[in-house]
Amino acid sequence: MKEEYMRAALREAEKAKKIDEVPIGCVIVKDDKIIARGHNLRETKQQSINHAEIIAIQKACKKVGSWRLEDCDLYVTLEPCCMCAGAILQSRIRTVIYGTTDPKGGSIESTLHMYEQPGYNHYPKVESGVLQNECSQLLKNFFKEKRLKRK
Ligand SMILES: [Zn+2]
Repeated sequence: MKEEYMRAALREAEKAKKIDEVPIGCVIVKDDKIIARGHNLRETKQQSINHAEIIAIQKACKKVGSWRLEDCDLYVTLEPCCMCAGAILQSRIRTVIYGTTDPKGGSIESTLHMYEQPGYNHYPKVESGVLQNECSQLLKNFFKEKRLKRK
């Protein structure tokens, strides 16, 4: 089941790749149904905040009709950055599940450990490593192709 949702997030990441965006994808699941999807659109829209998670959270809030996403689980191919980890916390998302870690900005275990800071009134559960290989290969191949094109 978890793998299935991560596959859906990977399909979102593929959509980003097709339009030359860094391939990161996200889906939000409620009651065993995907209620929102998003992929990275930072370049397309020239918006620093247009990360896959933010786009999916905005869609999910619209769908649910509330900023509270308490019964929702968020699947994302890459460890969330500080902005997205914060947005996940603010939306009270129940669980965040990510595929691979991001040593250059992941804010759950790689740089910041945001959910280990005391004082918030909500903490999401965290799971990582779901389809780790697929999620990480997609990114690695993307950057490799970019480097080759530049030569
Ligand atoms: Zn982010």
